[in-house]
Amino acid sequence: MEAIGVLMTCPMNNYLEQELDKRFKLFRYWTQPKQREFLAQHAESIRAVVGNATAGADAELIDALPKLEIVSSFSAGLDKVDLNKCKEKGIRVSNTPDVLTDDVADLAIGLMLAVLRRICECDKYVRRGAWKLGDFKLTTKFSGKRVGILGLGRIGLAVAERAEAFDCPISYYSRSKKANTNYTYYNSVVELASNSDILVVACALTPETTHIVNREVIDALGPKGVLINIGRGPHVDEAELVSALVEGRLGGAGLDVFEKEPEVPGQLFGLENVVLLPHVGSGTVETRKAMADLVLGNLEAHFSSKPLLTPVV
Ligand code: NAP
Repeated sequence: MEAIGVLMTCPMNNYLEQELDKRFKLFRYWTQPKQREFLAQHAESIRAVVGNATAGADAELIDALPKLEIVSSFSAGLDKVDLNKCKEKGIRVSNTPDVLTDDVADLAIGLMLAVLRRICECDKYVRRGAWKLGDFKLTTKFSGKRVGILGLGRIGLAVAERAEAFDCPISYYSRSKKANTNYTYYNSVVELASNSDILVVACALTPETTHIVNREVIDALGPKGVLINIGRGPHVDEAELVSALVEGRLGGAGLDVFEKEPEVPGQLFGLENVVLLPHVGSGTVETRKAMADLVLGNLEAHFSSKPLLTPVV
């Protein structure tokens, strides 16, 4: 397969990059100073794109690659891939679901605990020597809080199962009620937020779910409510979130993702009821290796005319 051209859109994982380099003819897109000229020169030999949650395959890139056969994404979310364009052109698409579910769900629980128990603030308190002057103030209990899941998919369900171990009553909103669970279903996100102490965003990012957490949802969650976002930044109207937090209309937030990563609104930096993470949901050595192996497995299956391991299109 050494002659098959694979375009990697941005740096994402050293092991994946090395393995792609060994097995295919790898093009590193981000190292090209003149990307248009590069595409014009190599378009005929590129048969696969490997992208991720930062840089995928948009309509412009797909149109520039007439020999493209497969987009193998190093991510579960496919919001950076133009799926309609791929369908239209008969281009296969694969992603890396399941192998990252545990990590993202673990981190969601970590964010809930960190926000309610002020873990990051406590750590700073010890480090700056403030403990010697007095005890840290009381915080808020997590066990037993009502957890609402927005998007009961793989990750949403894994968050729910973990939260159950903390005696949290679980409810959810998805496009349809699930037959295989006894969790309480609400017909709208506002209703879910009104009946939750903690709202966890875990749905796919699509045009319908962009800004699905808007002012009405934030107000329904209220001044004691906590928003956890381990989905994608654009799920939340960030300007509304910032003003709600600054004005005390929302109790707190734990955010792994942002609207314009790596930009994070500076107004959040001074707030102790907010925990900010640099999009690290799946960022463990073990999981990133498993994701890389899935990307490689999908490419090898495709170019050996075998069924994809995790097909999307
Ligand atoms: P999944 O199993 O495909 O679940 C996606 C969920 O989104 C489904 O439950 C689906 O429910 C729901 N959904 C889709 N459209 C919806 C809508 N209009 N309204 C409400 N719910 C909707 O995917 P997953 O593996 O759980 O991953 C979920 C998302 O997490 C990914 O798409 C990705 O964006 C994000 N993610 C983030 C990180 C991170 O590092 N922070 C890592 C991995 C994934 P219904 O079909 O029932 O509506």
